[in-house]
Amino acid sequence: MSLKEFAFIDLIKQSQATLNNASPYIDIGIGDDAAALNIPNNQSLVVSTDTLVDQVHFDQRISIADLAYKSLAVNLSDIAAMGATPIAFTLNITAPALSLPWCEAYLKGVSALAEKHQVALIGGDTTKGPLTLTLTAYGVVEKGKAIQRSQAKVGDRLFVSGHLGEAAFCLKHADKPAINMTALYRPEPQVALGRALQGIANAMIDLSDGLSSDLKHILHASQVGAIVNADDIPIAKPIQKTLSAHEALQFALHGGEDYQLCFTVPAEKLAQIETLKKTFPDIYDIGEVTEAQNYHLKQGNQTIALSAQGYQHFN
Ligand code: ADP
Ligand code: MG
Repeated sequence: MSLKEFAFIDLIKQSQATLNNASPYIDIGIGDDAAALNIPNNQSLVVSTDTLVDQVHFDQRISIADLAYKSLAVNLSDIAAMGATPIAFTLNITAPALSLPWCEAYLKGVSALAEKHQVALIGGDTTKGPLTLTLTAYGVVEKGKAIQRSQAKVGDRLFVSGHLGEAAFCLKHADKPAINMTALYRPEPQVALGRALQGIANAMIDLSDGLSSDLKHILHASQVGAIVNADDIPIAKPIQKTLSAHEALQFALHGGEDYQLCFTVPAEKLAQIETLKKTFPDIYDIGEVTEAQNYHLKQGNQTIALSAQGYQHFN
C-alpha cells in the first residue's frame, strides 16, 4: 500500500522518536509550521546536517531499519565530535513512493537510536523524488566549551576512541553472506565520550571518511602536523584475523565510516584520560601532534609520509 504525504506525517507523529518532544529543550515540537527550541542562556545550540543518497551512500543491500538507524547515527556522531549533547533532530525524506512497510521500518530503526539518546524528532519535510535522506541534529553545549578542529597544539597526544577499519572492510565484502555488517550499518555514535572530553581534548573530529583524511582536517585547521604510530592504531579484531597485517593497517588508516572520535590532548590533561579509560576502555594513544608540514606514519624504525586517502565526493 502506498501512503500519501499526510498519512506518513501522521505515522511519524505516532512514532517513538517523537515521544521525546516532552524534553524541556522542546518548546514547540513536531506538527506546527516550525519547531521551537529552548536554549538556556549559558548554552550554545550546535547544529549538524548530513545527507544520505541512494546509490552514493548506500544501496539496496542495507535494510530500511539499518538505513534509518545509520542516518541518525552519523548526525549524532557529528554532535558528539563537538563535545555536545544531542537533543533533537529533523528528518527530510525524499522518496519515489512511500509504502507502509517502508515507513514503519524506517521509523522503527530511527526510533531505536532516538530513544537511546533521548533525542526528539521535531519536524522535517516529505517530498517525492529519488531516495534521499537528510537529517539535521541539534545539540547543546556550554558556551565556549565546544571542541573544535582548530585547537590542536604542538605536543598534544593523539587519540582514537575505538577499533578502526571494520566498516570499510564490511563495505568491500558486503556481498559475502558470512560478513557481519553491524560495524557498517549500525555504528555507535560516541556521544558519552564526546561530552566527557569537554575541557580535556583540545581538538576533535569524528572519523567518517577515514583516519588519514579526518586527522588531516584537524591538522590543517590547527596549522600543526602529526606523527602516527602504526603499531598503536587499534585495528578491528575481525579484520586482524582475516587480513595480512599490512592490509589490515590500510583499512584502519584509510577506511571510512567507523564513526569513532579522533582527538588531541595536552600533556597536563593526560591523567584525566587515564581516569576516563575506566569508563571508555577503547581509548588508544596513536601518536603526537607536531609542528606543521609534518604528517608521518612511524612503523618500527621506519618513518614514511602519510597522505589523506579517505573518501571524497567529486573525486
Ligand atoms: P509545511 O507545509 O508547513 O512545511 P508539512 O505539511 O510539510 O508542513 O509538515 C507538517 C508537519 O510535519 C511539520 O511539523 C513538519 O515538520 C512535519 N514533517 C513533515 N515531514 C516530516 C518528516 N519526514 N519527518 C518529520 N517530520 C515531518
Ligand atoms: Mg512541507
